[in-house]
Amino acid sequence: MYTVSFHAAEGTDNHSSASSNSGAKGSAKSISKSSAKSISKSISKKKKYKTESGAMKAMWNWLNANKGSVNYFSPHSMPQTFTDSNELPYEGTKTETDFYRTAKWLRLRTAAFEQFGNKCACCGATPDTGAVLHVDHIKPRSKYPHLALELDNLQILCEACNMGKLNVSETQWR
Ligand SMILES: [Zn+2]
Repeated sequence: MYTVSFHAAEGTDNHSSASSNSGAKGSAKSISKSSAKSISKSISKKKKYKTESGAMKAMWNWLNANKGSVNYFSPHSMPQTFTDSNELPYEGTKTETDFYRTAKWLRLRTAAFEQFGNKCACCGATPDTGAVLHVDHIKPRSKYPHLALELDNLQILCEACNMGKLNVSETQWR
């Protein structure tokens, strides 16, 4: 379960915050109405999500629509606080291609080659032997968006090994 608490900045006109459909418009379907009960007079609210991407999407939408901060509690990372949707390890409505064009990713990609070397971690192929090398997410971005920009989650794979892997395997070859 992924829990997000939303904290509207004080002084923000947020009179609708006590209603269960405030904040992010079109937020994830998995939001339960029970969250409204946890709100007393506070302008904070807490919601639980079944999927990480659902939580990310909700935080993204909320931060784009409100001033304030969100606290994110995930089973596989330390609690995190975000105050701007740009801080989220989530690309919102951007396409897959856009992620691989971000400056953050391109810097990280270079760091991955420096760290892990210019060869396939699986079969050892190098550009000298004709391999096209990819920087692969060991835990796929689709399931683990918070690991998308973690060097520890990257490995170098040749195109052939990477295509064989798809998103099914989470094998760390290095
Ligand atoms: Zn390979």
